[in-house]
Amino acid sequence: MAINPFEWQCSFCNQHQVVTDSTFAKSFKKLYLGKPRAGDVGVSFYAIRCANPSCNELTLTFSYVTAKVHNGDWVENAELQSWRLLPDSYAKPQPDYIPIALRDDYREACLIRDKSPKSAATLARRCLQGMIRDFCGISKSRLVDEINTLRERVEDGSAPKGVEPETVEAIDAIRGIGNIGAHMERDISLIVDVDPGEAQALIELIEMLFEEWYVARHVRDEKLTRVKMIAAEKAAAIQAGKAQMAQQKLATTTD
Ligand SMILES: [Zn+2]
Repeated sequence: MAINPFEWQCSFCNQHQVVTDSTFAKSFKKLYLGKPRAGDVGVSFYAIRCANPSCNELTLTFSYVTAKVHNGDWVENAELQSWRLLPDSYAKPQPDYIPIALRDDYREACLIRDKSPKSAATLARRCLQGMIRDFCGISKSRLVDEINTLRERVEDGSAPKGVEPETVEAIDAIRGIGNIGAHMERDISLIVDVDPGEAQALIELIEMLFEEWYVARHVRDEKLTRVKMIAAEKAAAIQAGKAQMAQQKLATTTD
């Protein structure tokens, strides 16, 4: 059966695309095992192949559903539970120039966000601390002291390029949510209770800082390298022109 094309974003490569029959598959199976607690049930899966040729990854979701009879056939009714099997986490792909330890903490925090929010929050906090140490060069025993030092440096203008007052504001806003503030004031190894929403807020803060700090610095550096290269080429061309003119002058005086 043909599907109605729909808009979708691939979690592997972040590319927006329209999903059609050529990149989509879905299947439903009624489970014939009497009536479990949920009534008539079945399982279904759907798979989407990314249309971006350089990605081409498969996103796979498996669902436990209720079933009903429609036109004499068993069909899927309502979803009871769903598991996204591929990709195995909601982590967004991050570029290689972000230190591997930070990317690993981020990816693992995303992986366990729903099953263990407090472990996810602990990993996210360690990642945030790692970023402040690596990117901002501030290292203290408690994360809260590092954030306070970062704020002072932003205020007196000695913070690294790209660390804006808004960033410190965002960190402070996250600190104000539930137990996360207490989390930042305690020892790094201490696990504090948080709910999935709080862990998600920390994960989103990390994604924002990856973008605003590491990605922005990389783009800046690339632009600077390009400008320097163009300048060097122009300088070389001017030098060559001057040398040619001197040669011509020499040629006319010796004639
Ligand atoms: Zn993709």
